[in-house]
Amino acid sequence: MKLDILAIGVHPDDVELSSSGTLLKHINMGYKVGLLDLTKGELGSRGTPEIRAKEAQNSAQLMGAKVRENVGLKDGFIAHTEESMRAIIPYIRAYQPDIILANALSDRHPDHGRAAKIVADACFLAGLVKIETSWKGVPQEKWRPKAIYHYIQDHQLHPDFVVDISPYLEKKMELILTFRSQFFTGEEAYSQEPQTPISGKDFMDFMRAKARVFGRMAGYEYAEGFNLARPMGIPNLLEID
Ligand SMILES: [Zn+2]
Repeated sequence: MKLDILAIGVHPDDVELSSSGTLLKHINMGYKVGLLDLTKGELGSRGTPEIRAKEAQNSAQLMGAKVRENVGLKDGFIAHTEESMRAIIPYIRAYQPDIILANALSDRHPDHGRAAKIVADACFLAGLVKIETSWKGVPQEKWRPKAIYHYIQDHQLHPDFVVDISPYLEKKMELILTFRSQFFTGEEAYSQEPQTPISGKDFMDFMRAKARVFGRMAGYEYAEGFNLARPMGIPNLLEID
């Protein structure tokens, strides 16, 4: 199945927190979107990998993503190695996305910046014919996505562009809250779990405020911010807000 956009996150809720409004918008426009988690988030202080896997599938379903896969690399220790890149390349070739969304280039969680570089290099290598891979036993063709956009997550990086998500902010918050073990839903079931910088009500307020700040930069109500590793080509100056 060919996808238009493959959103990759090192932890199973990274994409929801950072770029799910953008994904909802493109799904609504008819584009095919898939999700790829690099790890199971097994080092997270709250919940378990099994719970998080279920939450991730619930979110994908609610979003309308065509597929959500997990590479199974090691949370916390993800590294820029041949093994990591060879593990990711088959997914890029299998789903042939034109656009990749990837983690922030640098962030509070050190996995994020590392994953950004690993994913970018895996995209480059996926386009080399002499790197041989197979998918379900069938040899794969080379594939290189047209562009990689790094979504801004925790650190307040200055965006190179923002995407208007005003009509999708509430649905985005719903997607985030499908990760019931991680975020504040007021449920008794998780009230005894360790508190983390993202588990309180204040974090949900921060998510809305962040979208408001990115929105204001371009005259939107709510937006998500992205960074580029190379300048973006613009086909038509008059179609830019
Ligand atoms: Zn993360």
